[in-house]
Amino acid sequence: MSDIARNLARIRASIARACSRAGRSPDTVRLVGVTKTVDVGRVREGVSAGIAVLGENYVQEARRKREALSDLKVEWHFIGHLQSNKAKVAVECFDWIHTVDREKLARELDRQALKKGRRIPVLIQVNTGDEASKSGVPPQKALELFRAVTPLEGLSLRGLMTLPPYLEDLEAVRPHFRLLREILDRMRQEASEPEALAELSMGMSHDFETAIEEGATMIRVGTALFGKRD
Ligand SMILES: *Cc1c(COP(=O)(O)O)cnc(C)c1O
Repeated sequence: MSDIARNLARIRASIARACSRAGRSPDTVRLVGVTKTVDVGRVREGVSAGIAVLGENYVQEARRKREALSDLKVEWHFIGHLQSNKAKVAVECFDWIHTVDREKLARELDRQALKKGRRIPVLIQVNTGDEASKSGVPPQKALELFRAVTPLEGLSLRGLMTLPPYLEDLEAVRPHFRLLREILDRMRQEASEPEALAELSMGMSHDFETAIEEGATMIRVGTALFGKRD
């Protein structure tokens, strides 16, 4: 068994434990294998082991990898900061985009998606910690962005994403996950199709069990799967 397959088995066991504590079924949680800086050989090993969704932070890196791995049946999710001038390539390379955080970017993604005759599933990234160093719409502006994104026909808004501060104390991270869920609930009250707004992309290697307890439907795990990045 490869180290990645072993890590994956361990992570699946943790997902199952967290789901059982939360009274949820493990198939309500999708594992996004975060492959930034991971070489294509290791990514391929991960997919052979059973990873079905890959998360990448950089458009150019993902484009190169996607070409090298075009034979694999996997979904590619964009999870990094996206500049509007990269929207075109992002729409070409990705099945999902987790990091829509401003109206200008949403409009550009919409324009590019419509050109390609696509409707691309997206999430709004919320900066739950209001950190200057992080992307994401501030929590108090999230609803306004939701109202701007909803009518765009090239985008299919599915939910929210957060990258909270890195905190060793998981009970200190929990309020961030809870806040994201509350903002989604608020949006669902306004949405014409609330059941389409179902995704919470939250939780990484060290805190995904807490995120699952708070309702995560997508967890983004890199280090715990592939090992430490350089
Ligand atoms: C790198 C990254 C992850 C994965 O982090 P790990 O701690 O390695 O699991 C998840 N989400 C985002 C947005 C990232 O940039």
